[in-house]
Amino acid sequence: MSEPIKSGSKCTRCGKARVVIGTREETVNNTKVLYTESGCSDKECQDKVDHQLTQEKEKRENIKKEQEKREEQRRANSKKKVAANAARKKK
Ligand SMILES: [Zn+2]
Repeated sequence: MSEPIKSGSKCTRCGKARVVIGTREETVNNTKVLYTESGCSDKECQDKVDHQLTQEKEKRENIKKEQEKREEQRRANSKKKVAANAARKKK
């Protein structure tokens, strides 16, 4: 590989130039969008950023799971109520 491509922006952590790590294609609304992934030219700094991002992602996923669990419980409870009401009406 030749010289890394400078992405033009600077790292918000250390102020070093950010470089393009890679590109990925995603299809949004049937249109192909090309994303450019950039990172810090300092590998150690980039590792820290990645680590932070992973932690944040895990946190968000945990919150989402908790919400889903609560929603499921709420739904189960309301189903029980409906069943109880139906049973009461029969008598
Ligand atoms: Zn950096």
